[in-house]
Amino acid sequence: MPDINRHYEELLKLHKEISLLGSIDSVLQWDQRTYMPENATDHRSDQTSYLASMIHEKRTDPRIGDLLTALEEEGYGGDLMNPQDVNVREWRRDYDLYAKLPKEFVERLTRLTTNANQAWLEARRKQDYAIFKPFLEKIVEMKREEANYYGWEIEPYDAMVDQYEPGMKTEYIETLLHELGNSLVPLIQKISESPNQPDGTILRGKFLKHLQRDLIREITAGIGYRYESGSLDQTTHPFCIGLGPEDTRITTKYEEDFLGGALFGVIHEAGHGIYNQNRSKEYWGLPMGEAASYGIHESQSLLWENIVGRNHAFWEYWYPTVQKYFSQIKDVSLDEFYRSVNEVKPSFIRIDADEVTYHIHIIIRYEIERALMTGEIFVEDVPAEWNKRYQDYLGIKVPNDAIGCLQDIHWSWGNIGYFPSYSLGHLYAAQMFEKARKELGDVESQFQKGDFEPLRQWLTKNVHEHGRRFKPDQLIEFITGRPLSADPLAAYLTRKYEGIYGL
Ligand code: ZN
Repeated sequence: MPDINRHYEELLKLHKEISLLGSIDSVLQWDQRTYMPENATDHRSDQTSYLASMIHEKRTDPRIGDLLTALEEEGYGGDLMNPQDVNVREWRRDYDLYAKLPKEFVERLTRLTTNANQAWLEARRKQDYAIFKPFLEKIVEMKREEANYYGWEIEPYDAMVDQYEPGMKTEYIETLLHELGNSLVPLIQKISESPNQPDGTILRGKFLKHLQRDLIREITAGIGYRYESGSLDQTTHPFCIGLGPEDTRITTKYEEDFLGGALFGVIHEAGHGIYNQNRSKEYWGLPMGEAASYGIHESQSLLWENIVGRNHAFWEYWYPTVQKYFSQIKDVSLDEFYRSVNEVKPSFIRIDADEVTYHIHIIIRYEIERALMTGEIFVEDVPAEWNKRYQDYLGIKVPNDAIGCLQDIHWSWGNIGYFPSYSLGHLYAAQMFEKARKELGDVESQFQKGDFEPLRQWLTKNVHEHGRRFKPDQLIEFITGRPLSADPLAAYLTRKYEGIYGL
């Protein structure tokens, strides 16, 4: 196979253009979600929909299909360790995904979700599921149609999941989440009944915004988020976005009466940011330089936020710095602080949940959306199915749909099949971390000294630099030598919280 192939070169050029347009769109999105004035919305949506149609046209250019076929006939696409082959294989995957959906269908879905989004906002505000119900019915219908365009073997939900976690099958996710749920439900029960509760009020009080910002910058720079190639800005719904090879933006929302939100929120986004900053620059905008999946992206944020950021050794190093910024907690001991950042409490809202009960929120959403896709439950039964599960799994009674089945925006966007990626991310993270500790020696003593560089480098070598070389399940097996399992996460959570709650 010749090193430089003219078909490959042409594809490279076409995809560089698509990536450049995509990154221009990202700049506009970042601006829209941070500093754009309210009245600029109309013009901004003209800009972004123009860009979106340009990008769609380029992605579905039949020339790409022809060039890929030519390369495949020449034998490209099979060698996992050759970056050019990886690019060809993944370009094929992307091209097929875009080309399989008829233009008419994409336009119809966009119209539907725009209206569904408005209806969802109103339904949530008025706590009235009936307003959203007809839209959700149409969304489920169209998602079944979409699954048929993509193709599926066992159940339509497979085609949904595959868009976010390539290669991952529903059956496997079912086993993982079922095992995880089986160990977490009794653990949560024991935690709730323990007389040994942490004091959650330690993180409440007055924490000035600018002091939070300075503290958080110090911590995130300390764990390896590079501010010379990244920023930290304010927003209402925090996110991380990559704008280019040396340009990553993370965002947060500061609450002056609660330190925990921004503190762990930014460590989370910095985890995403560190993944962006350490993928290959040489392959920027090409599959070899892209993230492996949504779940793998989430593994990086959850690893830093929870497994590292809520670790005792982490706070042995950082807690004196927190006390330096906030003298009101100078008499709170390290152990009390550590326990308070690890408080577990069943609650209604997913995004405010702790690392243990969080997965129950995901399991509930997953069970319902999967059953909607197979037709085992109907859209009109969603509130009842939802509330029943919160009672059974978390022991709490949902007072209204606004903080029940209407809390998340995802379904109104048509994002079905996305939720499992959140839990998969934590599963990947726990299994990776188990392996990292074996290879790096005593990571806790490194954390105690404020040395996070060995772990960061380990992640770069084992995860970041591979881009989309491996499918997520292959990547985890490549790193750890075994398939993804619920055991490492279940063991980590059980061990840790038994200690904290004296169970
Ligand atoms: Zn995240």
